[in-house]
Amino acid sequence: MNILVQKFGGSSVADLECMKKVRGKVRSALDKGFKVVVVLSARAGQTNRLLEMAYQYSDDPDPAEMDALLTTGEQESVALFAMMLRDSGITARSMLGFQLPIVTDEDYGGARILSIQAETLRKALESHEVIVMAGFQGCTEALRLTTLGRGGSDTSAVAVAAALGSVECHIYTDVDGVYTTDPRVCAKARKIDRISYEEMLEMSSMGAKVLQIRSVEFANRYNVPVRVLSTFSDNPGTLVMQEDHMMEAVLVSGIAYDKDQARVTLVGVPDKPGVSARIFVPLSEGGILVDMIIQKASRDNITDLTFTVSRKDLKRALSIVEEVCAGMECQGIEHDTGVSKVSVIGVGMRNHSGVAARAFNALYHADINIIMISTSEIKISCLIAENEVDRAVNVLHQEFGLDTPSQ
Ligand code: ADP
Ligand code: ASP
Ligand code: MG
Repeated sequence: MNILVQKFGGSSVADLECMKKVRGKVRSALDKGFKVVVVLSARAGQTNRLLEMAYQYSDDPDPAEMDALLTTGEQESVALFAMMLRDSGITARSMLGFQLPIVTDEDYGGARILSIQAETLRKALESHEVIVMAGFQGCTEALRLTTLGRGGSDTSAVAVAAALGSVECHIYTDVDGVYTTDPRVCAKARKIDRISYEEMLEMSSMGAKVLQIRSVEFANRYNVPVRVLSTFSDNPGTLVMQEDHMMEAVLVSGIAYDKDQARVTLVGVPDKPGVSARIFVPLSEGGILVDMIIQKASRDNITDLTFTVSRKDLKRALSIVEEVCAGMECQGIEHDTGVSKVSVIGVGMRNHSGVAARAFNALYHADINIIMISTSEIKISCLIAENEVDRAVNVLHQEFGLDTPSQ
């Protein structure tokens, strides 16, 4: 049995007209002889509407009940789409996460997949041409509903493709592939034909929401070829795959940005062994992901420690550091949500020096101040003021020769 996994995001299933386009993509896969597992997101805006609704009913919604609510978004879209397919004479049925099941841990709102009963899908595909599966959701061993984090339908799709065994996974969205940067921010962004898992991993973790980071982790681990395509065109899209020597020849493959950043500075803390541990251990135990960290050069054994977290974690991070600081010397705690991160990414950086200097110079000439810097083998990230992000993306995009040549 030749199986293809096709995932369609929120804007692809927004309304009846969009779903007709989705049906066209499914039909052409059937015409090529595939049995199809269609993974759907909630209709555009629905997950946000449900989230807002929860806060109208509760100041601090119970995480498990929040997931029970959020999973209804995908339940709605798969039921509607399965109905449409059946009306067109295609044998289809919907399937929710718990019906497979997709078993996850109990980390509500950001659960990790532990196992997928792919046999259920194979069996159902014996009597159906298409299974329409709800993305973004699973259940715990104890059958409580969970969600996989925002953008999690990408992960559902790739995980199912991996569980079915080296099946190609097509991710349909509202742009026709992965671009050198967000095409909504930079008009000169170029579509990339092929990108390595490693670069895509950095692009996603640095904020490019076109693929959820965990979906790329799955694809990389199980070597699932992922193609990013548009529901609204016939462009061949972008293939996310193993790195090859051609890719290394490219110095910088993309620029990503992340506006979900908040900065916290502990002013005037003692510079002695154990201070960082006293601050960062409780943050990690509190489940808070700390991104960038810098410590200022100390004077008289006193220093400043600055770190960044996701904006949704800021309140909790502040209450944790306030508690820590109450038990040690600290002149004050500052925080700022008007910051964002811009990153330059490319596997070619491994073998070339000077990329960081070029990036800093380009930002300097654009009069953009860098607040913090972090680097890895294939990435340079700078924290800057949020209102300068779009400009920074465009400046760096041009600096590294990524702009589409002018006509
Ligand atoms: P879906 O609802 O289909 O899952 P998303 O909104 O999650 O779609 O992701 C698609 C969006 O990702 C695009 O509309 C685009 O604005 C944004 N994006 C950010 N960075 C990139 C990039 N490098 N290439 C393509 N799209 C990007
Ligand atoms: N509906 C979920 C979200 O909006 C999952 C997804 O679209 O991938 O985040
Ligand atoms: Mg998405």
